[in-house]
Amino acid sequence: MIRVAADSEDPFVGHALELLSSFLAVEIGLAAGGECDVYYGNDADRACAIRVPRIAAFQERDVPRTPGVAYDAKREAPFPFDLFSAVRYWLTDEGNTAVAESRFDRHDRLGISDSAQDRLGVQTTPIVNAYMMLFGSWLESRLGTTVAGGLPAGKKAMIALSHDVDEPIDPGDTKHNRRFQRELLARASSMALRGKLRDSVSTLRSLHKWSAKRRGAKSERHWLFEEVLDCEQNHGFHSTFFFAVKTLYDRDGSLYDVAYDFDEPRFHAVYREIAARGSEVGLHISYNARESAARIEAERSALEQASARAVHGSRHHFWHMSRPAWRTLTDHGRAGLRYDTSIAFNEAPGYRLGIGFPFFPWDPENGRKIPTLQIPTFVMDGSLFQSPQSDAQSARAEFVELLEELKRHRGVAAIDWHVRTSYPGSRELEQMGRAYLEILEVLAADSEVAVGSCSEVASQFGVAG
Ligand SMILES: [Zn+2]
Repeated sequence: MIRVAADSEDPFVGHALELLSSFLAVEIGLAAGGECDVYYGNDADRACAIRVPRIAAFQERDVPRTPGVAYDAKREAPFPFDLFSAVRYWLTDEGNTAVAESRFDRHDRLGISDSAQDRLGVQTTPIVNAYMMLFGSWLESRLGTTVAGGLPAGKKAMIALSHDVDEPIDPGDTKHNRRFQRELLARASSMALRGKLRDSVSTLRSLHKWSAKRRGAKSERHWLFEEVLDCEQNHGFHSTFFFAVKTLYDRDGSLYDVAYDFDEPRFHAVYREIAARGSEVGLHISYNARESAARIEAERSALEQASARAVHGSRHHFWHMSRPAWRTLTDHGRAGLRYDTSIAFNEAPGYRLGIGFPFFPWDPENGRKIPTLQIPTFVMDGSLFQSPQSDAQSARAEFVELLEELKRHRGVAAIDWHVRTSYPGSRELEQMGRAYLEILEVLAADSEVAVGSCSEVASQFGVAG
């Protein structure tokens, strides 16, 4: 074991060592006695192979940029920066805590253009990985440690395939449309009766918007589970489908919630099919469930019941979590979730907390580890289709670059493609559908990339499904 002595009482140091151990696949821990291999502090005379200098905290102006692999050959030179404060800067979002209230969108999401990641040019670089790789190369040079890395043998990156199930019903499904209209009208009138006129009006407005969208869309197909599973299976891949259990016409639902009934027989058949293919059913946590762990737990067990299998993982619909997210991330463990995948930028690819690797988040407000593994999501359908000129080929090219950058940083991250966009079943979403198939081709052709469902990725990093 690499023994680390620290002149710091901050419990984050031990937490960061756990992350380093997992990323480098080297056992690293705090030293019990006086002797150490790595010393974290500012006593230049302390005996050690590597001294990591200590500062209070980084600011945006001095937080280390991509450090590369430059190595100072002088034996006595300390590590070039305070590794622990640098990792903490990104993982606890220190660079984005001063963002003005008005800069978050209506779903409490930070836009990429207001982020420290964007200002520092590291939006699509998992910079925490870069810090950890640099430290790994110091362990190799100074201590002769073999740094194998936590990825499967021979791989430079690992990708989790995942699908949010938001609008899986074909737009031309008249039975479904009638039920939906009935339910939404009932919701609007019950709101009106309870004196909630504004809610009633916005319910009617979304009904109107929705009906307009469905008219003339008879041949559009959104129910593409079978096709998506087939395409993935052709490459030997598994994936995770996140289903929502709360609808927009439930009393405690939000108008942003989904409009399908997860407990219908046709969904039961889909759950069975997903399991039969070795893929996974996860929970798409509803819009308002961030309010309590009990709500998330109720949704998780409802989906377990309906799908007749254990549900271990989640993603929040609209990435809608508490702001900052620490409270909601902590609720995941209380709700029985072993992993979550909700750390992402919405409108752009990249690394919302600077890391492209499964990690246990750190709650800086309470100074403790959050026990549900987080698999960062680095790209989604919408984030590669921001421009009206985007098509399957431009999305493929952009994805190839993102993947290369992830491989350079020995990274692990999730792709999020909605079910209706994961296969060209609808004219409106055809290019996104083709893009997903292109991405599957890119992944299948690259022997340096491992691909799996979210639970397969989680179990690679010690969280059993
Ligand atoms: Zn969603």
